[in-house]
Amino acid sequence: MIALIAHDGKKADMVAFVKNHVDQLSQFQLIGTGTTASHVESAGLSITKVLSGPLGGDAQIAAEVACHRVKAVFFFRDPLGKHPHDPDISMLMRICDVHNVPLATNMATAELILTGISGENE
Ligand code: PGA
Repeated sequence: MIALIAHDGKKADMVAFVKNHVDQLSQFQLIGTGTTASHVESAGLSITKVLSGPLGGDAQIAAEVACHRVKAVFFFRDPLGKHPHDPDISMLMRICDVHNVPLATNMATAELILTGISGENE
């Protein structure tokens, strides 16, 4: 499973990323925070939707990572924005490090990780 999350300022990047990699991403189960997941669905992929990030969605994704159900997290953060759920964002990143799960915080890194894990579909 791959987790997809994008802050509002990066949702356009996420949609572009998903559209450019539909074939690779469709090999995996996908999970995403509420609004991001709606955009991913509109781009033609099926995805499990959790709560919106500010309402706890990042925490739900972190729980999946901690349970070893996530192969990679693509979290397109907006470095210029302020976020009410900063503690959850830090927690998700920490959990990825605790469990040694690949975490991309921008599109360039996501592309490299996706290339690396393609073929290991789960
Ligand atoms: P969203 O949440 O996909 O529901 O917008 C993302 C976030 O802000 O963490």
